[in-house]
Amino acid sequence: MKIRLAADLQTDSIVDGLGIRTVIWTQGCSHNCPSCHNPGTHDFNGGELVELEDVIEELENLSGQDGVTFSGGDPMFQPKQCSILAHKVHELGMNVWVYTGFTYEELIEKGNKDILEFLSNIDVLIDGKFELSKKSLDCEFRGSTNQRLIDIPKSLENHRVVLFDLNKKMNKKEKKETIFI
Ligand code: SF4
Repeated sequence: MKIRLAADLQTDSIVDGLGIRTVIWTQGCSHNCPSCHNPGTHDFNGGELVELEDVIEELENLSGQDGVTFSGGDPMFQPKQCSILAHKVHELGMNVWVYTGFTYEELIEKGNKDILEFLSNIDVLIDGKFELSKKSLDCEFRGSTNQRLIDIPKSLENHRVVLFDLNKKMNKKEKKETIFI
């Protein structure tokens, strides 16, 4: 099976979620958000088709990464491939964050089994289109205020959107760092 990617895996990112992360840039998106930061990733025939096995091998060889972030493009247009990769990321002990232009509710309403399977392998979903009129630099890990950081395991369990508690997680991390110092 192949996945269409916009670029090589990017390691050591600190702006695509908590901690040190590797970013998988998927190719293909039809949301057409005005002032999209990444228009080169829209074409569904663009980028490069890459064997999933090769991406898995790269994931297995990562070191010093807290998690993997799926971005693009919109990873939800390749849910089966992304689901397999996200499952692997969890097996390797890292967490999974995903950016999508769909809202959580839209994804659930689709009832697509590959999307639901992908969701079940996600820790944090940043959902919704980028809206220029709601652009804010205060939104950590998001471009505009309409986008939400969603705790997916809790949301699936409670059948409603549960926001990810960024402060709580950050405090925990600070605590851990203090203990090790
Ligand atoms: S969802 Fe992301 S990649 Fe797609 S148009 Fe919107 S900002 Fe661009």
